[in-house]
Amino acid sequence: MLIRNIWAVGRNYADHAKELGNDVPTSPMIFLKAGSCATVNSNEIVLPWWVQDVHHEVELALKFSQFMTVVEAAVALDLTERKLQNELKAKGHPWTLAKSFSDACPVSPFFSFKNFDDFRDRKIRLTVNDEVRQEGRTSQMIFGFEKLIEHVKMHFPVCGGDLLLTGTPAGVGPLRDGDTVKAEFEGEITHLWKVRQEKPPQPPTTP
Ligand code: MG
Repeated sequence: MLIRNIWAVGRNYADHAKELGNDVPTSPMIFLKAGSCATVNSNEIVLPWWVQDVHHEVELALKFSQFMTVVEAAVALDLTERKLQNELKAKGHPWTLAKSFSDACPVSPFFSFKNFDDFRDRKIRLTVNDEVRQEGRTSQMIFGFEKLIEHVKMHFPVCGGDLLLTGTPAGVGPLRDGDTVKAEFEGEITHLWKVRQEKPPQPPTTP
């Protein structure tokens, strides 16, 4: 099933909200990433040539079935061009350019996610070149699975094949060409990517 919309929750782990200098929200803060940003089960992240400061945000991604229930999940990276995002935020502009570039949502293969109680205190971790950058537990989420699902279904036209990114723990940081990224969701999945950045287009050579 194609990924259609990506509903993403900002600041759902208090320690991450604080590291970016943001207030902890009192209701879920939702933004969109284009569904076409998602690449499922690839082992390569291809960054566009024009991005300068792409940060990793490891997140548990819930997937809606055709019946609008969640029965599968994955680990995903909500890649964010932080320099651009900060500039756009300062101007009060939308974040789309910072969040929806090509390959901005790498997604691992999906695993079964049926009994939510089994997943309420699992570790989520991201390492870059074997160095742990992000680590948190789902028990630290400000808004839990049911609340997030209810919130997006109430406010938005959620479709089968949509993803819900549930927020990122503290420790976000830059990705560079050549990095090896490993995302883990305890007991379910470990997925690896190699980062490659495209070269800028060359001006045409005159004969
Ligand atoms: Mg995020």
